[in-house]
Amino acid sequence: MADFARTVLISGCSSGIGLELAVQLAHDSRQRYQVVATMRDLGKKGMLEAAAGEALGQTLTVAQLDVCSDESVAQCLSCIRGGEVDVLVNNAGVGLVGPLEGLDLATMQNVFDTNFFGAIRLVKAVLPGMKRRRQGHIVVVSSVMGLQGVVFNDIYAASKFALEGFFESLAIQLLQFNIFISLVEPGPVATEFEGKLLERVSTAEFPGTDPDTLRYFQDLYLPASRELFHSVGQSPQDVAQVIVKVISSARPPLRLQTNTRYSPLTALKAADPSGSLYVRISHRLLFRWPRLLNLGLRCLACCSLHTRVWPR
Ligand code: NAD
Repeated sequence: MADFARTVLISGCSSGIGLELAVQLAHDSRQRYQVVATMRDLGKKGMLEAAAGEALGQTLTVAQLDVCSDESVAQCLSCIRGGEVDVLVNNAGVGLVGPLEGLDLATMQNVFDTNFFGAIRLVKAVLPGMKRRRQGHIVVVSSVMGLQGVVFNDIYAASKFALEGFFESLAIQLLQFNIFISLVEPGPVATEFEGKLLERVSTAEFPGTDPDTLRYFQDLYLPASRELFHSVGQSPQDVAQVIVKVISSARPPLRLQTNTRYSPLTALKAADPSGSLYVRISHRLLFRWPRLLNLGLRCLACCSLHTRVWPR
């Protein structure tokens, strides 16, 4: 390992983007990173360890970390040499999809506890050290849903909007300490996250939801969502590659969308600051012209716009 290796702490590495990112950083040809790949349940470390291969115990170590627990965070940091984290990647997250009336408040609170307060808990733990050393980088795996609301994803989108507001505010103060913040905003990514979620909600009952809303959710939203993931979805490897570039950059950006094929959808919101254009077009596409939506998504998939996301 290089003497100058930076310690990178990543949450949620048992699967998906976190796992891929941990492995890519640990396999860096210049050995610039010492990766602490964390997960809530160490019983699930098999896939990560297999993918890490020879890097395991060299440039990658696995540690337990539940972002919803102060004790777990403290315990994890106490195992890191000097407790010093150079790069923190807030990746752990949970999704929530479905008609609002059929979701209970405890489930919604768990989304905020994990996606929002989980990230803040980690930031509070590493920030004093970063400030003392006058350097650091905090990467947040947000989402395009942190930029625009998506039907039936109300609570999940709210948790990502909260992250965007929080970290944009903090970024201003932290520049004074030479600490950078990067909000990475993937569009749909084909991971367990999405697979398990869509499978679960397709058979869920959502008690208390009126029949019309339930029908819109099951007959319009779910097929459109599957098509979206199928047509413009990225792989976790692709997203991890973008994050690696963000981490290795001397001047990391505050915001970066990872998926250029999704950009036409986010551009709708930027095109009309009143917000009406995005809401009206989304409404029409889903409720009135679902076939056009389907066709549009397939076109987006076919004409793979190879606009580069990075570097500028
Ligand atoms: P994933 O389900 O494979 O990964 C999420 C990880 O977070 C899992 O390993 C899970 O165990 C972990 N996690 C959940 N609660 C935790 C807790 N309390 N403590 C520690 N770890 C916990 O899915 P993914 O797609 O790789 O998700 C990673 C991040 O990417 C999430 O923040 C998600 O919101 C974001 N994201 C995902 C998509 C997508 O379509 N998959 C799109 C945009 C953003």
